[in-house]
Amino acid sequence: MLLDLNKLRGAHEHFERTFAPAAFDPPDSDYRVAAPVELVLDVHPLGGGAFGVAGRMKARLQVVCSRCLDPFEVPVDASFDLRYVPHADDAGEVEREIGEDDLTTAHYRDGMLDLIDLMREQFMLALPMKPLCSEDCRGLCAECGTNLNKGQCDCAPRWEDPRLAALKSLLPREKEN
Ligand SMILES: [Zn+2]
Ligand SMILES: [Zn+2]
Repeated sequence: MLLDLNKLRGAHEHFERTFAPAAFDPPDSDYRVAAPVELVLDVHPLGGGAFGVAGRMKARLQVVCSRCLDPFEVPVDASFDLRYVPHADDAGEVEREIGEDDLTTAHYRDGMLDLIDLMREQFMLALPMKPLCSEDCRGLCAECGTNLNKGQCDCAPRWEDPRLAALKSLLPREKEN
């Protein structure tokens, strides 16, 4: 959804919107939006074409556990305080003087603020690099792929006695000599 910054009526605008998961199609490869997303937003002009955009969003994202590969949901409750400046392609000389090296500076194009992009950005910041379904997730058996949170497999006992495995690997070599 695009917010037309030129149509802001006053010095300060307040928005409250709920976005259906389908608004985020096509889904990002890192997560899927699992419930309607609530966004509260305050926009005010800062002068020189810049806008202050502060707000909060609540969402539930489905991600895949990095150990056991099972999907699970992560609640996201993110606050943000951003400064939007025109994209370099659109900006005049004055706007280009605004420092763009800090993380809270974002860009808009053609007078439009893309709220879906803004929220996608916040999702990525909120999600852990390696999501875990639980702190003590036992992951998958490296041999057969069994999810060890759900049950044991036959590979596990052999893994528990590395001395036996070492002996077995020595026997055929001795015969060859
Ligand atoms: Zn897991
Ligand atoms: Zn196994």
